[in-house]
Amino acid sequence: MPAIAVIGAQWGDEAKGKIVHFLCRRADLCVRFNGGPNAGHTVVDAHGEARLHQVPAGALHPHCLGVLAHGVVLDLWALEAELAELAGQGRPPPRLLLSERAHLILPYHRRREEREGAAQALGTTRKGIGPAYADRAARRGLRLVDLFHPERVEERLRAEDGEEAAQVLAELLRLRDRFSPAVGDARAALAHALRAGQTVVFEGAQGTLLDLDWGTYPYVTSSPTTVHGIPWGTGVRVEFAAVVGVAKAYTTRVGAGPLPTEERGAVGERLRESGREYGATTGRPRRCGWLDLVALRYACAINGFTHLALTKLDVLSGFSELKVAVAYRWGGRRREDFPSSADELFHAEPVYETLPGWGEGIAGVRDFSALPKAAQRYVRFVEEFVGVPVALVGTGARTEDVIVRAEILGYT
Ligand code: GDP
Repeated sequence: MPAIAVIGAQWGDEAKGKIVHFLCRRADLCVRFNGGPNAGHTVVDAHGEARLHQVPAGALHPHCLGVLAHGVVLDLWALEAELAELAGQGRPPPRLLLSERAHLILPYHRRREEREGAAQALGTTRKGIGPAYADRAARRGLRLVDLFHPERVEERLRAEDGEEAAQVLAELLRLRDRFSPAVGDARAALAHALRAGQTVVFEGAQGTLLDLDWGTYPYVTSSPTTVHGIPWGTGVRVEFAAVVGVAKAYTTRVGAGPLPTEERGAVGERLRESGREYGATTGRPRRCGWLDLVALRYACAINGFTHLALTKLDVLSGFSELKVAVAYRWGGRRREDFPSSADELFHAEPVYETLPGWGEGIAGVRDFSALPKAAQRYVRFVEEFVGVPVALVGTGARTEDVIVRAEILGYT
């Protein structure tokens, strides 16, 4: 069965871009179904480092069609800039299909985000994503298809942009004409591809713990980030051959919200520097800490992961010992489960298990048996604790820096 879901298992930035790019080496379609240009998926290949915000990571392979399904919110200005940047790296233009039902992010969404203070309070990426999804739910959004019926667009822009409306409209119509060959019925194309037995990789943006419903509400993003976002954001029902959860070997988070295993001192600093933990979209330093297995087990339960990709294991080299959270303590009691309330999570203190570290660098290792015994033990501890096999282990930023432990559709 050729459908694979790739889902962030933590608070985003888990290296989904690299894992998706790896899994798409033989895929026909790569589909973004949620979020917008707040994603910052990094791929390092022969052309250099690509920072992808809207272009699906698989679409860097010339054989793979990148689909932006209707669940994403689309910033056409940003998409144009992103394509120009990729071209500047000498890459062939990605093949894209943009759902005509996708909602547009417009300049007034960014303004509203600043004005309403969400950017400051939640630490959002300031790209207008939240306001665009809010307009969609409030039934006053504009979709790509509306650009082919500009009267309604003009009316909305006049209400929002005042004197600048004419200029914004002219820009939008230019972008419409530029992208119109790529605009179409993404649901129908996807359903057809799945029926025809083509290999489809669904590329989640952000992570499970930022999901609108399953994340640490209200410190979340404004779309579904879990596997349940796939039917929501594409309109197709999929039998997945694999649902791959991507988790870093430690924990990071950008923006506000609870993070029980956060290390504010030397450990956090070291993870940040070794892991280059600065936002791909915003450049902000990420908050860093030990791996939280309570949170990861919860993400496994929400998504029904069949496999895990444990990324950036190489960043843990050189620590004499490594901690992993196996429970929380709050209200004087030990808790095994991830709470529904962010307030409770703010007060949760991690209960740690300490595992031996390893001194050797493991960058670029591609064979599990070539890892130091302590690194092997760390990986095994994770999979045994959460009950999901770690199929892929990341040992470096390049797409090929990966250990394949279990066969996923013959991707060995
Ligand atoms: P995404 O948004 O989930 O795709 O993750 P990001 O791209 O924001 O963050 C992952 C970062 O780690 C990027 O800079 C990647 O190039 C880099 N990276 C990915 N996998 C590995 C790995 O296994 N080891 C190391 N050291 N870096 C990695």
